[in-house]
Amino acid sequence: MNILVINAGSSSLKYQLLNPETQEVLAKGLCERIGIDGKFTYKPAGKEAIKEADVAMPTHSEAIQAVLNALVDEKNGVIGSMKEIDAVGHRVVHGGEKFAKSVLITDEVMAAIEECNPLAPLHNPANIIGIKACQALMPGTPMVAVFDTAFHQTMPPVAYTYALPYSYYTQDKVRRYGFHGTSHKYVSQRAAAMLGKPMEQLKLISCHLGNGSSVTAIDGGKSVDTSMGFTPLAGLPMGTRSGDIDAGIMEYLMKKYNMDIKEMLNVLNKKSGVLGISGVSSDFRDLEAAGAQGNQQAALAVEVFEYGVKKLIGSYAAAMGGVDAVIFTAGVGENGGGNRANITAGLEFMGIKIDPEKNKIRGQEIDISAEGATVRTLVIPTNEELMIAMDTASIVKG
Ligand code: AMP
Repeated sequence: MNILVINAGSSSLKYQLLNPETQEVLAKGLCERIGIDGKFTYKPAGKEAIKEADVAMPTHSEAIQAVLNALVDEKNGVIGSMKEIDAVGHRVVHGGEKFAKSVLITDEVMAAIEECNPLAPLHNPANIIGIKACQALMPGTPMVAVFDTAFHQTMPPVAYTYALPYSYYTQDKVRRYGFHGTSHKYVSQRAAAMLGKPMEQLKLISCHLGNGSSVTAIDGGKSVDTSMGFTPLAGLPMGTRSGDIDAGIMEYLMKKYNMDIKEMLNVLNKKSGVLGISGVSSDFRDLEAAGAQGNQQAALAVEVFEYGVKKLIGSYAAAMGGVDAVIFTAGVGENGGGNRANITAGLEFMGIKIDPEKNKIRGQEIDISAEGATVRTLVIPTNEELMIAMDTASIVKG
């Protein structure tokens, strides 16, 4: 079974054609600068990536047509015809409270996704454009929506309720939703497989640490708390996002610097996080290099981030009444051995201890716990595309 996975943004579109049963990726790539000057990247398995500039891509429709043309191309294609695409899995950022799992896309589902647009005004409309373009070009091919928020819909009210007037929840849907759900779900399933235990018996803390970061408490396979909130701005300090701050800071700074809310949010989303503290970069590798050369702000930025992750691990262990394994995933979680060492240092009292040699190994699933650790520490490369393809296949098969 071949599943085309589409992740549509406002001016870009990532795609992957893969077989969820064999986990083989047939081809993948990226359309960028849609509506501007169209850049197209296509990488068939086992061959060099093909890159084209100035490809006519006024809309997502031409971008998806370019993807389909490349997939069936005589020379570099990977399938004989479009009939070999059994279904399309679409990443959709926000499913609100309507979607607690992935779903086959119907007219009703499309309307319900559109109703979630106000909750993710930058992302959902682009996801919808991607779905509509695929529907027009691939009539009859089943389409499935996989939501970033769905995995967290199992959170209990005590975890998702903000201490605001309750009508903001009942009337305005203001609550914690959480994001990165596809990644947290994937790594938690892999963790259960690695530990050889049924998911129902496991308490896991999944740390998705990348340019965007979130930590999730997963009890018996269900998300019971997560650090992102109503929007992905909440929780940990990230590459450029502030994470949690005292809301009172906003009024203070807006008055002092005569900023409107748009400017303030631009600071919180684009100029804060480890970039903001360091003044150097949002990239953790740059910060590590700058810190090693004595840049104290860069070192502090990384420390603030690591301290945030450590506190979440402690608080989620408390929330679940224990933890069996801590999972590290995404760019920093998978590669930043130094970050993992700093985050877990001092958690020996909880039974968390990592082996410095195992902690050096990269790019593979590995249990990096030290001998005697009673809580496992796992590094698991995330694979959101595979998770989307697996969900899509299981829904299409019924
Ligand atoms: P992601 O958003 O998951 O692609 O993660 C991107 C982040 O991972 C960037 O900040 C990278 O600097 C970081 N990253 C990648 N490789 C490493 C590494 N070897 N050590 C620390 N961070 C890394």
